[in-house]
Amino acid sequence: MLNSKSIRRDFPILSLRREDGKPLIYLDNAATTLKPRQVISAIIRYYERYTANVHRGLYRLAQEATSLYENAREAVAKFIKADSSEVVFTKNATEGVNIVAYGLNWEPGDEVVTTVMEHHSNLVPWQIIRDKFRVKLKFLDITDDGDLNVEDLTSLVSKHTKLLALNHVSNVLGTVNPVEKLIKLAHEHEVPVLIDAAQSVPHIPIDVRRLRCDFLVFSGHKMLGPTGIGVLYVNRDASDTLQPAFGGGEMISKVDLEKAEWNDMPWRFEPGTPNVAGAAGLAAAVEYLEKIGMDNVRRHEIQLTDLALKRLSDLESVVVYGPKRAENRCGLVAFNVKGVNSHDVALLLDELENIAVRSGLHCAEPLHRRLKAQSSVRASFYIYNILEEVEILCNTVEKIAGLL
Ligand code: PMP
Repeated sequence: MLNSKSIRRDFPILSLRREDGKPLIYLDNAATTLKPRQVISAIIRYYERYTANVHRGLYRLAQEATSLYENAREAVAKFIKADSSEVVFTKNATEGVNIVAYGLNWEPGDEVVTTVMEHHSNLVPWQIIRDKFRVKLKFLDITDDGDLNVEDLTSLVSKHTKLLALNHVSNVLGTVNPVEKLIKLAHEHEVPVLIDAAQSVPHIPIDVRRLRCDFLVFSGHKMLGPTGIGVLYVNRDASDTLQPAFGGGEMISKVDLEKAEWNDMPWRFEPGTPNVAGAAGLAAAVEYLEKIGMDNVRRHEIQLTDLALKRLSDLESVVVYGPKRAENRCGLVAFNVKGVNSHDVALLLDELENIAVRSGLHCAEPLHRRLKAQSSVRASFYIYNILEEVEILCNTVEKIAGLL
């Protein structure tokens, strides 16, 4: 089991107190997570000890910086059970989706199937592609409980379908989608699959070999790592279907004035100087999570989510969105206090108890429309959160519901 009390000591922000002495209750982990000392030190260490560009210089420091960067790739690859040649470092999950969107060879009439529960990151790129290449978008709908209508996939897929692109875990409903089943179904129709794993890789054990997805994206900053580093996993068998969307130094093997030849995987998708410090920080984050064990992370979050779901669902004036059982979700709960604007609830949680939650549309506007909700409040948990904090959240929501 995971020891949150000792984990908390690794996170400098958690030792800060507000003027009134109240500690920070950080429940906005789906937006970004706090960073442990180990990650911060790894970033500082690169700048203090290893600063040099990578894959370029022959001098010792440059070789050391290159090893640091490539070792980080190996660590991340191991974390998701990929080969390191399949791990492309990006800026974030969003960039990963865009690299795929701009890298596939579109023809008018091609179709992309996605879902109504996507983050804008996995929707807007497809809308751009639709308008640029006359591609059609199709959407899998959800049930009122926030589960995907998986059976509808067969009727949405046609011989024109070029890609199925969907999230593993919804950043609003918390739903853990049955991606293994969906990937299998899509592959039966020879449709490749992109998984937006921004909300799953940080929270549940991921094995890309078992999933058999073609592409998968996630962000370092949602899993204890720094901002500005993310991952695009490209299955080796799918790599030839993808052309580099961006050109520049290091992504080529040979260039003349007329043309260029691409470097091997994964470098062909990493033009320009990469975020070396970010990669070092992400590797430290992965090491930190591996020490705890992703099964323990998952179990801990189910405990916190279970309490939040039970307590909030018991309040008559509160509507909770998404699957009823914590086991079917990741560690986040979106809700509304009936008749109260979500921003007012969030401001009061901050004001009364120094609780940080997100309010608004969480970059999932179509999903809110589908739920007939103007917006929502979202509490999201991670390894350093404790049951006492969830109790304080629920007590304060109850108090706010009584006040307004
Ligand atoms: N997909 C999902 C499901 C997310 O929750 C997020 C972040 N909120 C993203 C994609 C985008 O992540 P980033 O902004 O780090 O690219």
